[in-house]
Amino acid sequence: MKRKLTLFGLSLVFLVTGIALASSHGSPSISAEEALQKLMDGNKHYVENKMTSQSTCDTAHRTALAHSQKPYAIVLTCSDSRVPPEIIFDKGLGEIFVIRVAGNVPDPVVIGSIEYAAEHLGSPLVMVLGHERCGAVKATIEAKGKSTGSKNIDAIAKTIAASIPDATKACDACKADKKCAEGKAAAFAECLTDANAKNIAANLTKSSPILKHLAKEGKIKIVAAKYDLDDGLVTLFK
Ligand SMILES: [Zn+2]
Repeated sequence: MKRKLTLFGLSLVFLVTGIALASSHGSPSISAEEALQKLMDGNKHYVENKMTSQSTCDTAHRTALAHSQKPYAIVLTCSDSRVPPEIIFDKGLGEIFVIRVAGNVPDPVVIGSIEYAAEHLGSPLVMVLGHERCGAVKATIEAKGKSTGSKNIDAIAKTIAASIPDATKACDACKADKKCAEGKAAAFAECLTDANAKNIAANLTKSSPILKHLAKEGKIKIVAAKYDLDDGLVTLFK
């Protein structure tokens, strides 16, 4: 009986400790503004070829992170091989929670992943990152609303195509811009890339009651940005 009580007591201790750990788990280690600054500082290191993340990818960091993680930023970006967030933001193990899918489009699985990191890991920042000359955007424009021949690629194109009206408006307004003047098709693709990232960021709270609640409470900040394949710079959309 005594043994049973002791086991019961121990279970209670673990239960209480577990609850305490669970409730502290979701609290952010830094603010969203600090997290954003860390990403932008890391991008500056990358652009200037002064990367430091190698020092946070060693055995000591791996061991320290083996049983828990507290990433301070969530990055939803494209699967494009030239846009790896850990490299372009100069980040090591445990720093950023990355979701990559062609065209950086959300679906329930993607949004669920963002919810998990925001709610359970306490990441205060969500960044939707589009990039220059995105193949998924190009494929969407080329499909002209018709099937690409794959219902799976069609699902990506359909999401991106929802931003075509906004991109058309933006493209009309930015014709004087040097980059937009390079070629009409290429210019429109860039405007669609921008509109896609902005709309996805703006719609995350509409698609997720959890993210809506966290945003309302000031616990997460959602931003949209674009990566330049030529100079490596990440630029935030206002
Ligand atoms: Zn892409």
